[in-house]
Amino acid sequence: MQLGGQPVIVLKEGTERSRGRDALRNNIQAAIAVADSVRSALGPRGLDKLLVDSLGDVVITNDGATILDEIDVQHPAAKLLVQVAKTQDQEVGDGTTTSVIVAGELLKRAEKLLDRKIHPTVIIEGFKLASDKCTEILQSIANKIDPDNKAHLINVARTSLNSKATGGAKDLMAEIAVDATKAVKEGGKVDIDMISVIQKQGKGLHDSELVQGVVIDKEVVNSRMPSSVTTAKIALIDLALEIKKTEFDAKIRITDASMMDAFLDQEQNMIKEMVEKVKESGANIVLCQKGIDDLAQHFLAKEGIMAVRRVKKSDMEKLSRATGAQIVTNIKDLSSSDLGNAGLVEEVQIGDEKLIYVKECANPKSVSVVLRGGTKYVTDEAERALHDALCVVRDVLEDGWAVAGAGSPEIELHKNLKAYAGTIKGREQMAVDAFADAVEIIPRTLAENAGLDSIDVLVELRAAHDKGNTNIGVNVDTGKNVDAFEAGIIEPLRVKRQALQSAREAAELILRIDDVIASKSLGEGPPMPPGGMGGMGGMGGMPPMM
Ligand code: ADP
Ligand code: MG
Repeated sequence: MQLGGQPVIVLKEGTERSRGRDALRNNIQAAIAVADSVRSALGPRGLDKLLVDSLGDVVITNDGATILDEIDVQHPAAKLLVQVAKTQDQEVGDGTTTSVIVAGELLKRAEKLLDRKIHPTVIIEGFKLASDKCTEILQSIANKIDPDNKAHLINVARTSLNSKATGGAKDLMAEIAVDATKAVKEGGKVDIDMISVIQKQGKGLHDSELVQGVVIDKEVVNSRMPSSVTTAKIALIDLALEIKKTEFDAKIRITDASMMDAFLDQEQNMIKEMVEKVKESGANIVLCQKGIDDLAQHFLAKEGIMAVRRVKKSDMEKLSRATGAQIVTNIKDLSSSDLGNAGLVEEVQIGDEKLIYVKECANPKSVSVVLRGGTKYVTDEAERALHDALCVVRDVLEDGWAVAGAGSPEIELHKNLKAYAGTIKGREQMAVDAFADAVEIIPRTLAENAGLDSIDVLVELRAAHDKGNTNIGVNVDTGKNVDAFEAGIIEPLRVKRQALQSAREAAELILRIDDVIASKSLGEGPPMPPGGMGGMGGMGGMPPMM
């Protein structure tokens, strides 16, 4: 920069800068590398990844969002792509691998267009046209799903579970996902957060169960208390049933034994009063967010009251919603109107451990899933799989639309986008055409991951679609064509639509960048990726303009 003939330095020494074509190419390469890293995980025949983090913890997963979350991506452009997967996961819950793979393929195709001197803005324009067209095409091939048609919903759940390791418990998991989602549906909306998922190691995934009610990972505090209570009146208490430790240093001078007794009696009386208060309210169950000391346990047990201590705050909130109980913070305020109701509260022995089941709650819209599995790796991956399944069922229950899977919608998009490209004047046409080719990466990858010849598969699929068979996809087991919808391979329209939109947005973000300025990373910063740019770590400390 020149000002009055004097060069003006705006960047601190050591700042890395790459601009124009260099920056763009470098970013594209990084993003493509990320996309390539998840390609082998796509679809039912996709492989798992074993990831080890810097602390040595191991994660085994096939979930695109999780893979990208676990690998420590340093390149700023690559990070943008990781963000796409996260957004996709949060918004629709599935289709993360798809969105990242399509984004990578869009960038590959964009690079070829750049080689042919097509300006990034033209590519961006064309991609936008194509992506809008995709939304239209997808809607036109979507099928209306009746929320009461359980078979369809089960298929939607199964399709999303197909690509996950569910150890032969796929049917059970699909059933659980559908029942749980339907149970919490209210006014056309499904709040997945209402479904609590508890992992319990031991036994196998097929011993997992859906519980109508709330399950808490705690046990009854004292074995002399009842371990099962019917017609439960539940008090939720957020204070310690313990002797208060004085906040300040107090000295009590005890001069004779009777004083000592009086002092202890005093303490005992306080606890006794608390328990008395609980009893007066009519509660036969106390679920306490804080501790319950021995003395309090003793008095509660004597009254036949079941008590659980150190219940998590989030569980307290769920219990409040489920049973209608008010969380009480001052025992003096506890009255019968604060109590919640449940048909049955019981302590259940699972393996070596115990869980508390709160069943037949006043509000039937609270359900829990207890996931069983040999190891934490299994239950962790099962929870991720279940999350996806819950999300896809929710998507379909809320929107009522689904498309066939197995690569069939992408072939249909390819075909229609090609035709659409022909109607576009100007250079954007080339970008629309490139978009059409890019979406075919999904059936191609599904075929490749199944060890099939992807060219043969694509040729056959295109021929079938040209004849008007919109739902024909690839059967990854036989390599033959299959009517995906009839075969029960069904995905929410929302997932497909969003996957393509997020892919386009990511490609656009990266194509818009023509200048990367990264301040020198402080201390032991991440190594520079080839091409020169430092990690995002350095970007936080952008150099001050001088
Ligand atoms: P994502 O993270 O994008 O959801 P997945 O690994 O879950 O990735 O794979 C999803 C893809 O697998 C979808 O295109 C879906 O249609 C396809 N798929 C699922 N089940 C089958 C099947 N039985 N045969 C062929 N394709 C399938
Ligand atoms: Mg999936």
